[in-house]
Amino acid sequence: MEQIVISGILAMFGVILGSFAAASVWRLRARQLVEDKAAGEPVDKAEYKKLVPLTQSTVKADRSRCLHCTHPLAWYDLIPLISWISVKGKCRYCHVSIGWFEPLMELGVAVFFVASYLLWPHNLTDSLSIVQFIVWLASGVMLAVLFGYDLKWFLLPDSIVFPLIGASAIFAAIDLATTSNLTAALTSLVGAVTILSGLYFALWHVSKGQWIGFGDVKLGLALALLLVDWRLAFIALFAANLIGCLIVIPGMLAKKITRSSRIPFGPLLIVGAVLAMLCGPLLLSAYSGAIVSATMLLVG
Ligand SMILES: [Zn+2]
Repeated sequence: MEQIVISGILAMFGVILGSFAAASVWRLRARQLVEDKAAGEPVDKAEYKKLVPLTQSTVKADRSRCLHCTHPLAWYDLIPLISWISVKGKCRYCHVSIGWFEPLMELGVAVFFVASYLLWPHNLTDSLSIVQFIVWLASGVMLAVLFGYDLKWFLLPDSIVFPLIGASAIFAAIDLATTSNLTAALTSLVGAVTILSGLYFALWHVSKGQWIGFGDVKLGLALALLLVDWRLAFIALFAANLIGCLIVIPGMLAKKITRSSRIPFGPLLIVGAVLAMLCGPLLLSAYSGAIVSATMLLVG
């Protein structure tokens, strides 16, 4: 019973914070366009016109607007998921499709919150472990923003990546503070950082930033600090590449993805790391269980 109530509360918070994350993606993009234009870089004029009013609204008018007709949205347009379903994904004022981005972000963060609670591999018994869990959920919201932004514009903005690294450092510090074997835990953490961030750094360095961006190196560092364990980092990298192949190979066969297509690594790495965090420990114990039974079979 308690589990159902907590899951329900987390789902609600997840939907609300998912909505906040989706709105942050658009605001960040608008700010980026303003900065790019000020720096004299080429800017898509239509996109600029559409998004920049989002950052320049006065405090009084600082509320969300329809991206198409810029009609200010009423409170009943801003209820996560419910508003979207009630207007069948179209703007109430201009009837242009709102798209799937907002509801998917809202649903995605809600699922992430509930799955994190139900599959949480650490304990949740003392206050420090609850703080650690909350840091994980907060990191998840930042990961959702990065996921959306990288998918749309192939960029991982520093204004999210740096706070994420800060939060994940707190997460790792709590882990190290509560471990019984500090040397082993530290070694494992260094291994995780080497696998997720070091490898990307090498790829970035060798290709002079052609294959992957430096944002992936920084994201890899944050994810390594969250996973702490080098084996989980390895599973994350493996899962990210596996999912990448599952998307790229059918895409190439259907000729929708060509050799010159850009593939954002950030979203793959984020999904891989979340899967590794929540399912990795089960995988590892199943694996060591299989080894134990195999040894017993051989010995017996
Ligand atoms: Zn509209």
